[in-house]
Amino acid sequence: MTVIDLRSDTVTQPSTGMREAMAAARLGDDVYGEDPTVNKLEAEMAQRLGFAGALFVPSGTMSNLLALMAHCGRGDEYIVGQQAHTYKYEGGGAAVLGSIQPQPLEVQADGSLDLAQVAAAIKPDDFHFARTRLLALENTMQGKVLPLAYVAAASRLTRENGLALHLDGARLYNAAVKLGVDAGDITRHFDSVSVCLSKGLGAPVGSVLCGTADLIAKARRLRKMVGGGMRQAGQLAAAGLYALDHQIQRLADDHANAAYLAEGLRACGYEVEAVQTNMVYAQLGDRAEALKAFAAERGITLSAAPRLRMVTHMDVSRSQIEQVVTVFGEFNRQ
Ligand SMILES: *Cc1c(COP(=O)(O)O)cnc(C)c1O
Repeated sequence: MTVIDLRSDTVTQPSTGMREAMAAARLGDDVYGEDPTVNKLEAEMAQRLGFAGALFVPSGTMSNLLALMAHCGRGDEYIVGQQAHTYKYEGGGAAVLGSIQPQPLEVQADGSLDLAQVAAAIKPDDFHFARTRLLALENTMQGKVLPLAYVAAASRLTRENGLALHLDGARLYNAAVKLGVDAGDITRHFDSVSVCLSKGLGAPVGSVLCGTADLIAKARRLRKMVGGGMRQAGQLAAAGLYALDHQIQRLADDHANAAYLAEGLRACGYEVEAVQTNMVYAQLGDRAEALKAFAAERGITLSAAPRLRMVTHMDVSRSQIEQVVTVFGEFNRQ
């Protein structure tokens, strides 16, 4: 039985074309800066997103950490969403390893941070306070896309207040495809951007951090310090290059499948939040564990949470989504 895994878009297997590109990659020692395929990926990402430099790293967590540590020093502060990945799901790395104080703010229903709250959280230059240095946004945020006008307003606010602006763009391309814009139209408002190749883009490993030449030089030093310097990493970079060339536009299929799933579940009587990209949130309440077990017996892997997240990706087809709707319907009728 083929398992339908809806826990995350990180579960994808490299496609055949991607595996071929990986096998054929030209390699060198990237710590010496000599891996041609890593160098090509970094140049390609920098060019696509409009930055002077880029750095290939093993994970999105490391990419965000290096960005925060490159922007902020000991005793500095960054403003971030209470529900943001950098704050909530990265082990407190910025505080633990960077001595950077987070100032979390509640994320709004649309995935944004209220800019009036951000402005109010910026601390005056006073030795009682940490130095507010950076605002970190996330796009997509739980599947929600930040409007371009909002991003532009956030950029103006940070510039006026001498802050840097970082984007956790783990799913930047989902946002770009949804908006129908070039990813660079989003990233040009930021001082640094982290993009995951291993989410919906379908690569097995890797993220890329983009920024100014100076920021990337700092991040490169920090990457070595935290053990992220990789040697013949070109095989992984080749997967990323393949994803950029072949697996961006197809994200629209994931979005259509997520919308279809949400509609189908609503028709079976489930309460489902509005869908923008590849994430579907359904209210299961205390039935989450039972549904997880019921679905597992029928070849569907789910998380178990009262607010259940399901993520569509390249290894789940429309007909498999139809099966999922059928199984949810059976569960509701038993
Ligand atoms: C997955 C994810 C990350 C981190 O990526 P890893 O490669 O798993 O460390 C960062 N931010 C967001 C929004 C993510 O979804």
